[in-house]
Amino acid sequence: MDPSNATIVDQLKASLDQVKERIRAAAARSGRDPKEIRLVAVTKTVPIPRIQHAIEAGVAIFGENYIQEARNKIETFKNQPVSWHFIGHLQSNKAKYAVRLFDLVHTVDSIKLARELDRQAGKHGKVQDVLIQVNISEEATKSGVSEKETLMLAGAVCGMAHLRLRGFMTMPPFFDEPERARPYFASLRQLRDRLRTELKIQDCAELSMGMTGDFEVAVEEGATLVRIGTAIFGERA
Ligand SMILES: *Cc1c(COP(=O)(O)O)cnc(C)c1O
Repeated sequence: MDPSNATIVDQLKASLDQVKERIRAAAARSGRDPKEIRLVAVTKTVPIPRIQHAIEAGVAIFGENYIQEARNKIETFKNQPVSWHFIGHLQSNKAKYAVRLFDLVHTVDSIKLARELDRQAGKHGKVQDVLIQVNISEEATKSGVSEKETLMLAGAVCGMAHLRLRGFMTMPPFFDEPERARPYFASLRQLRDRLRTELKIQDCAELSMGMTGDFEVAVEEGATLVRIGTAIFGERA
């Protein structure tokens, strides 16, 4: 590694350490073990050399929003010990690629998509881990099922041989004040707790919630996966 490279990795590592420290502090405030919380470094628009630096700085999980963009990146780093999560909106006709490329799909938002993921996972000889995306705020512009529809979709996914439901994901509305996102995070946690009991699925504990602007509140409310881009890599172009 040349010296300038070392500086870049050090800077990235400093941002990462800051984010991890903030996660640790938020976990401590709510009496949680920080080990329960995994950091997903969101790399949409982040170029390959910078992802290499992030791996050197210790990132273990990356989140991508677009299949096309993710493909090259995942291919480039296929021999590295890192995991890739799909966090964007997924169209059924891209399910095939999602199954080949990603360890966890955070954004199952319809029965149609679930069926296609199940079918493709079967063809690929894989059991695909998935989360259901819940539109807690019921904003028309957001993907995800309503709280009401979640029970039905979760029940259906649990019945599919090649899918394994691991938990739930949500994106609250954007607020300048992160504290205002708290009720949405709390609602997703309560929904998960209720569905785990009703569907008898203990293996379904993940809560993917919290981004750069609100991840500390999300951790306080039970997040197990936080999806963070800007606080690690800086503003996107
Ligand atoms: C872009 C994105 C993120 C990361 O957002 P930041 O504010 O940059 O941390 C997280 N989740 C999803 C679904 C995203 O699209």
